[in-house]
Amino acid sequence: MRAPVVIIGTGQAGFQAAASLRAEGYDDPVVMIGEEPHHPYQRPPLSKAFMTGKQDAQNIFLRPSAFYQDHRIDLLAGEKAVEIDRANRRVRLASGSNVAYQTLVLATGARVRTLPIRGAELDGVCYLRTVDDAIDIKTRLEDARNVVVIGGGFIGLELASSARSLGKSVTVVELQPRLMARMVAPLLSEFYRKVHSGQAVEIVLGAAPVEIRGQDGRAREVRLSDGTLRPADVVAVGIGVLPNFELARDAGLAVSNGIAVDAYLRTGDENIYAIGDCAEHPNVFAAGRVRLESVQNAVDQGRSVAAAIEGRPHRYESVPWFWTDQFDVRLQMVGLSMGHDRIVTRGDPQSRKFSVFYFRKGRLIAIDSINRPADHMIGRKLLASGVALTPDQASDESLDLKRLPPASPSM
Ligand SMILES: Cc1cc2nc3c(=O)[nH]c(=O)nc-3n(C[C@H](O)[C@H](O)[C@H](O)COP(=O)(O)OP(=O)(O)OC[C@H]3O[C@@H](n4cnc5c(N)ncnc54)[C@H](O)[C@@H]3O)c2cc1C
Repeated sequence: MRAPVVIIGTGQAGFQAAASLRAEGYDDPVVMIGEEPHHPYQRPPLSKAFMTGKQDAQNIFLRPSAFYQDHRIDLLAGEKAVEIDRANRRVRLASGSNVAYQTLVLATGARVRTLPIRGAELDGVCYLRTVDDAIDIKTRLEDARNVVVIGGGFIGLELASSARSLGKSVTVVELQPRLMARMVAPLLSEFYRKVHSGQAVEIVLGAAPVEIRGQDGRAREVRLSDGTLRPADVVAVGIGVLPNFELARDAGLAVSNGIAVDAYLRTGDENIYAIGDCAEHPNVFAAGRVRLESVQNAVDQGRSVAAAIEGRPHRYESVPWFWTDQFDVRLQMVGLSMGHDRIVTRGDPQSRKFSVFYFRKGRLIAIDSINRPADHMIGRKLLASGVALTPDQASDESLDLKRLPPASPSM
């Protein structure tokens, strides 16, 4: 029997790699090492259905615990990997033991970026990444009246939506002049500003928190760069994440905005792969190297790496997609819109059902759909097959996008 495939990280990507190895017929031992004391679970509900009480903690697990025994996956939950000894192919754990590997998969994910201001250490200043974070915030919300959310990105806005749905008074503070500025077109930022304002969420744009003031060690109010104060029992910070690449870096592997891998998700060491939120990879849809933070990317890279380990390597070329739920609005995104030079809309934003098509040099690169799941599903097919679509066709609602001619072989 060979030494195991060892997977560091028991998040979505690590879980998928293990499950897909077994599904691919891999028969040798598989070991998962995870710092969190839980079986693999989904993060998306944490800011949404779990936070509002519509989904309980038992329903967020990716599989029941028996799955790991049944599939001979040795799950070391609550164990942190502290060193990779590449010369001897083993991983040292914080508990002192070593785990030998044949192949190592790094699925270490990302951690929250913290707020570097006075008062950030006060009780009531919260971050959301893990189920334990979510339980803590949810408990605090029960007694809270005023919630200040720092950061108008996906996580911040989902938290704002959940807290407001629970009847809290909510303020969102965003440094940029518009919401979700890194990810969506200005038209969508404005749409979301109206959605939140319409639910009485106060949106403060172009401002930063400069200090959190407290009483008896607990956060009480946030002072903003415009000099104003906002009362806060809970300050929920959602200002992005940092990739966990230190293990790889300390083992001499190349890192930049993540652990650097090739199109097969392999690092510079042929026995070590990296996948999910921690991996910076070449992506045809980005026309360059990117690090993506999405369930789709974690799942598809988990599948790819399992196939590679099983001797069926293929280039990672999955179409990127993502979603976010805020109030009654679902945004589904497909493709990567960075670098777009033209956008057109399909449908009427007033109806709260429309899509934004992004083009670069005349070529479709992404679609963001608001409450239009059919556009999203068609978009996945269009982008995967490279079907040519002009901006005029995209905005013409009389044209059935399902009936476009297939891409010519030269595309
Ligand atoms: C609140 C929230 C809502 C989200 N909503 C959406 C959504 O709606 N749609 C979407 O597509 N995506 C969403 N995401 C993003 C998505 O959940 C992530 O992209 C995905 O979970 C990444 O999976 P991963 O396995 O790469 O990393 P992670 O989930 O971060 O898992 C990595 C794991 O590795 C562990 N680890 C790290 N270092 C070590 C070590 N040295 N030793 C042992 N273990 C270690 C970590 O503790 C962690 O458990 C959301 C994320 C959050 C936090």
